[in-house]
Amino acid sequence: MTPEERLRHNWERIRAQIPPHVRVVAVTKQVPITLIRHAYNLGLRDFGENRVQEAQPKIQALRDLPDITWHFIGHLQSNKARLALELFAWIHSVDSLALAQRLDQINQGLRRPAQLLLQVKLRPDPNKYGWQVPDLLPAIPALRQLQHVQIKGLMTIAPLGLSPAELQTLFSELVALGKQIRNQLPIVEYSMGMSDDYPYALAAGATMIRLGRCLFGERPATNEATNALAHRP
Ligand SMILES: *Cc1c(COP(=O)(O)O)cnc(C)c1O
Repeated sequence: MTPEERLRHNWERIRAQIPPHVRVVAVTKQVPITLIRHAYNLGLRDFGENRVQEAQPKIQALRDLPDITWHFIGHLQSNKARLALELFAWIHSVDSLALAQRLDQINQGLRRPAQLLLQVKLRPDPNKYGWQVPDLLPAIPALRQLQHVQIKGLMTIAPLGLSPAELQTLFSELVALGKQIRNQLPIVEYSMGMSDDYPYALAAGATMIRLGRCLFGERPATNEATNALAHRP
């Protein structure tokens, strides 16, 4: 099978399982531009990248696709915040008050609305970024004061090695947290679920799922290792 045939086959199978209100964010790290264009031609419109510098040439090369939406899903360093706001309509990985305030300050001068999700770390994991709940709750008053960005939801990444029951519990916790803080922040989006766990995220109420390998196939092993390192603080 060519990569194009495999993508079509995967997408047809996955699409049938996804409720219509759920956005599928096709994660295109290490995926070539030609295959991203093919995904667009199959009907995908939302695309996710986790490194600003890798994403920039792809986003520029696909500027002719008018209704494409780019999502940033990786750890964002504050010196890349401006470029990220210029390139991406959504940032799923806001993991500190300082970053949220910086995005707000930068976006004051930009015309586009910036839609942010707060990345929450529901289980201890030294290799992952994200708010722990006891740190997020006291930051809400300051987050409410941001004027130039919209905080629209929560995002989480499940740690490796959880059982189906544990995944179900974890994803339900994110939705419960959103409901708990919804009277203070307009939380409507839940970005959760990846190739190995998206059915559990859908069952728990995901509104955005982020799919890479189950659409495009395995990423090259060497780059996987690089990526794993890039996720370490
Ligand atoms: C790579 C990545 C994904 C997609 O992962 P797959 O296992 O390939 O589906 C989703 N979310 C984030 C934050 C990622 O870095």
